[in-house]
Amino acid sequence: MTQAPASKKPAKVASKGKPGSPAKGPDLLTHPIFDELGFQQDPNNLYRQTVSSMLQAADLMNLPHQLKIVLAQPKNEIMVNFPVRMDDGEYRLFKGYRVQHNNALGPYKGGLRFHHDVHLDDVKSLAFLMTMKCSLVGVPFGGGKGGIKVDPYKHSKAEMERIVRRFTTAIAHQIGPDYDIPAPDVGSNAQHMAWIADTYTFLSEVGGHQPEAVITGKPVEFGGSLGREKATGQGVVDTLIEMLPELNIDIKGCKVSILGYGNVGSWTGRILQDRGAKIIAVMDHTGAIANDGGIDAYALAQHCQKFGGVGGFKNADKIDKDEFYQTKVDVFVPAALEQMIQEPEAKMLNCKVVAEGANAPTTPAGERVLEQRGIEVLPAILCNAGGVTVSYFEWVQNKTCKSWDLEQVDHELNKHMIRAAGKVRDARKKYKCGLRTAAYIGALERLKAAYEVRGIFP
Ligand code: NAD
Repeated sequence: MTQAPASKKPAKVASKGKPGSPAKGPDLLTHPIFDELGFQQDPNNLYRQTVSSMLQAADLMNLPHQLKIVLAQPKNEIMVNFPVRMDDGEYRLFKGYRVQHNNALGPYKGGLRFHHDVHLDDVKSLAFLMTMKCSLVGVPFGGGKGGIKVDPYKHSKAEMERIVRRFTTAIAHQIGPDYDIPAPDVGSNAQHMAWIADTYTFLSEVGGHQPEAVITGKPVEFGGSLGREKATGQGVVDTLIEMLPELNIDIKGCKVSILGYGNVGSWTGRILQDRGAKIIAVMDHTGAIANDGGIDAYALAQHCQKFGGVGGFKNADKIDKDEFYQTKVDVFVPAALEQMIQEPEAKMLNCKVVAEGANAPTTPAGERVLEQRGIEVLPAILCNAGGVTVSYFEWVQNKTCKSWDLEQVDHELNKHMIRAAGKVRDARKKYKCGLRTAAYIGALERLKAAYEVRGIFP
């Protein structure tokens, strides 16, 4: 499966409105902190966009200035270049990243993205979002993210194994079960996690306990947790079940469209179908399909496994990109890459709710359109927090040498998701703001409380 990069069309810049709501006009992304820290001036820069949303929330709750600057930049930005022998005997140089955003609440935690279009600022944004997500969902982790600039679908299994093991060696002294715990993300999978755990275990053989706890999302046969593979989709569905009633939408019979049918999209689709919802349109990098009578989410997942994407799926009509966005549904789930819902897509969407399965799928300009059109957005730091939550359970199981059954995993996950949704609802009520701002406030309140007792060294 080859992934096309998310389109990076220039989004129109909007202005600052009342705190806590997506702003209107030409200066949405301005903030004194950006000038103080010398941020890139580009309003389409993903890092500037994500931090901008957090700063709106921080202003609204009067977060102290020192916490705004601490959270606006990652603690560590690690870049490595490493050579790997290809199957034909030639060597190629690869670039890898690990960004450690914040560890005030616990070890850095976040996925590794294997994609040909990975850049430092993307990784910084994703690491930042992990800090916010872990805080909101109440797990004892900070935020990190990493990746390798590589298209995993263009390499043999043997080449990928060498790339992954060499990358692990390059960053081994920067990660650890009690310091920084990576996981899968776009383009990486349980097999890659197993190679990382094995390489790390080999390198740390002389000391250290539970070295396999250095990474989560491992295969169940090698320290992985039951329920981890579906966890992010499960969390999206748990969030919908919690939030839909107040939006007067019944999950039974509710119509859904999904952008991206990889791990997050396909599990969200399958679990929603189990709950009585109907998946009527899906798009990925291979095309778009629709069937108003419902697409069998399980059959589509099998098709994608076999053929690498939704293209060619029988029992659905092939549609074009615009038709996909215009399909009338109750819930639209973006579960592909960042910045895919820009102004034009937001104008086309014909839904009541956007449930962000992907990280940062909606640009500020896209969000402004959605708000004007009365479309509710369930923000990613709430909606897709199920993955890191079950990663936490995997880490706990590794550390305590125990294995939980699936029922326990699902039950504990549900408890975390309901609690996080409650925090968002409370913040929205208290600050009279949108759900994204409320989610950031929920996350920032916990970070603020931790910094108040910890202080900032020295
Ligand atoms: P994945 O690689 O399994 O799937 C990505 C999907 O996006 C694929 O279906 C691919 O076809 C589609 N896609 C890529 N480029 C596209 C394009 N230009 N147009 C349409 N579709 C395109 O990745 P994933 O693990 O499902 O992650 C998806 C998103 O969810 C990412 O933003 C990731 O950071 C986020 N996320 C993942 C997890 C997790 O546990 N895997 C957890 C939290 C958040």
